[in-house]
Amino acid sequence: MTASFKGNKAQLPSKTCQACQRTMTWRKAWAKNWDEVKYCSDACRSAAKRRQMPAA
Ligand SMILES: [Zn+2]
Repeated sequence: MTASFKGNKAQLPSKTCQACQRTMTWRKAWAKNWDEVKYCSDACRSAAKRRQMPAA
């Protein structure tokens, strides 16, 4: 990994969205539950949930 950030104070952590596979960068809103964040957006979360829902 090459850190060639211009003007950024710190390198923020990032992870991959479990639904769309896009890289999501740490957000302040996720500070409390970053470890539990799996999806980049509500849309991805509900899409993944819908997919995992057992077809009753
Ligand atoms: Zn996503």
